[in-house]
Amino acid sequence: MRPDVLNPYFASITELAGIGPKLARPFNRLLDRPDGARVLDLLLHLPSSAIDRRARPTIAEALPDTVVTLEVTVDQHRPTPRGSRAPYRVHVHDETGDLTLAFFNADRGRMERLLPVGEVRWVSGTITLYDGMRQMTHPDRVVDAAGLAKLPPVEPLYPLVEGLGHGHVRRAVDAALTIARELPEWQDRLPAGSPGFRAALQAVHHPAVPEAAGPDGAAWRRLAYDELLAGQLALALVRSRAVRSTGRSSVGDGRIAARIEAALPFTLTGSQREALAAIRADLASENRMLRLLQGDVGSGKTVVALLAAASVVEAGRQAALMAPTEILARQHLKTIAPIAAAAGLRVALLTGREKGRVREELLAGLRNGEVDLVVGTHALFQEGVAFGDLALAIVDEQHRFGVHQRLALAAKGEAVDVLVMTATPIPRTLVLTYFGDMDSSELREKPAGRKPITTATISSERLHEVVERLGHALREGRRAYWICPLVDESESSDLAAAEARFADLRQHFGSRVGLVHGKMKGAEKDAAMAAFASGETRLLVATTVVEVGVDVPEASIMVIEHAERFGLAQLHQLRGRVGRGEEASTCLLVYRPPLGPIAEQRLRALRESEDGFFLAEQDLKLRGEGDVLGTRQSGFPGFRVARLERHGDLLEAARADAKAVVQEDPDLLGPRGRALRLLLHLFERDVAVKLLDAG
Ligand code: ADP
Ligand code: MG
Repeated sequence: MRPDVLNPYFASITELAGIGPKLARPFNRLLDRPDGARVLDLLLHLPSSAIDRRARPTIAEALPDTVVTLEVTVDQHRPTPRGSRAPYRVHVHDETGDLTLAFFNADRGRMERLLPVGEVRWVSGTITLYDGMRQMTHPDRVVDAAGLAKLPPVEPLYPLVEGLGHGHVRRAVDAALTIARELPEWQDRLPAGSPGFRAALQAVHHPAVPEAAGPDGAAWRRLAYDELLAGQLALALVRSRAVRSTGRSSVGDGRIAARIEAALPFTLTGSQREALAAIRADLASENRMLRLLQGDVGSGKTVVALLAAASVVEAGRQAALMAPTEILARQHLKTIAPIAAAAGLRVALLTGREKGRVREELLAGLRNGEVDLVVGTHALFQEGVAFGDLALAIVDEQHRFGVHQRLALAAKGEAVDVLVMTATPIPRTLVLTYFGDMDSSELREKPAGRKPITTATISSERLHEVVERLGHALREGRRAYWICPLVDESESSDLAAAEARFADLRQHFGSRVGLVHGKMKGAEKDAAMAAFASGETRLLVATTVVEVGVDVPEASIMVIEHAERFGLAQLHQLRGRVGRGEEASTCLLVYRPPLGPIAEQRLRALRESEDGFFLAEQDLKLRGEGDVLGTRQSGFPGFRVARLERHGDLLEAARADAKAVVQEDPDLLGPRGRALRLLLHLFERDVAVKLLDAG
């Protein structure tokens, strides 16, 4: 499968000179390849920074706390006295002054060989002032004239793990560079003079100036572009095959949609209409729809989804709406059911909880086309679920699902159109990265009558004040959410924290306090939510299960504990649970001091803006590509070289490039196409290569 020219890149690192099985272990850890790192992993392990050894001042000129390389004459050794913990000292000088070299735990014999009295040596390291004397503690390098000729002017530093030093990594990378050969060029849009793939690796690991080892240097940018192009090309190939393989058009006559609109207690916003027009055009076309519907919390995506479903039902076909959680699926059904009933749209619910007879009847209804729209969870794409004629799959809050689930649902019918709704807006760069050339509709306009939410931050040291104010509000008949601390990654301790807070608030406010969390049984969750929605409970203590979808318009206060631990998008999403009704709403972000600088900026951004599109961009800036999408859970491939916050500008170019390639050479058979296959292998987008070979 893999072309032979790539063999050196995919060889085990244990084949490199100097790396035996023992040293391979920390390298496997460093490179996050428990099953054995390959030469390519090592080459793509790029420097974190670089030391500049080009400064060659005299001792008198040398600036403290910067790296300098000094030519000195050795005067005298002062070995550590017995029983003392003082360092071994070596006095040296040049014509401008004196310097002490200090070494801890030094061996006398070794020191005398390294720094023979009376001889000239070059020492490189950082000078500090110690008791008014210039001192260099543990020079990084001590070399003679021959060594100096070989001393690199700039030395890369690497991210490390225990058991490895920079020297180990540098030597291993050098060994890797000696076996890695240059590859046929797959890029044809690089600026003139850009290095080839291997040359770029060489340059970034042997920088001529410190900047050349960094993400803004030409070498790194080339590699980042390579990686982005590989990703975009893979997505474009998948998409071109998906679109090519279809040809069904669903044209509705608008009869159900008109009844739905008539049943709505509001009129659609301009953005909602625009999005619908785009979706209807997609549904009517012979090509398969792959569209993203982006909108801020509360922008009204659900009704757009419902009207999209109506279109295919009018055409005599079926639609499915998949939600990430059971609460959310039920919530959707509850919102949709009365409107659907008024419009003559037959809806049903399918989650893991529907069992036995109910489930059998439901499945039969799906098969024989009696159900027009089914709302559910991942239970929808399990085996045994079959549709009469599924035309549209709507996936809500996509980032909780993997690409696989999305495809699995689409596979339940012939040429199923796919509409993906995101929970909150996703920055454009991430949309491109993970969804590629998917079409996108944005609901930028908020429904009329939304009141702004007042957002404030408050230290947890003043929690008693929060509780006191909450007491007033509850007595006035208001309703509030209290989101419990994210204690750590483990769900059980989060749960414990929620239960403790619940007990505590119950003491204050009695039976008006409810609790809902992810570990509850479905029926218990429903009961807790229903009690809050009806006003039986007025304060709902919750873990982040309420994050998505819950719609209780009477709730007007949101308290979030340990706000500093949540991501920006998540906080915004949580805050969006209030501000949905008549009352002015408040969001209190309770943080535990001291607040770190990034957390501080995050909370400030929330205080200053309610615009999800703006906050999404801020989030990306603050976190880097990080986990904006929760990439790990969703099985999105991460990046090794590209940093979206630095290389976002390259993404557009890579996308256009990939699109052009797929148009001109869809099977990658031309000379550039062949070279691009290598690129797909190098960045492990070979799923796309398999697709090519399968035809
Ligand atoms: P989200 O985009 O977060 O999924 P929802 O679809 O849950 O938003 O809508 C939030 C609330 O706004 C719902 O109560 C819904 O009925 C209401 N809504 C939707 N569209 C409009 C509109 N055009 N005018 C007024 N309210 C609307
Ligand atoms: Mg929603």
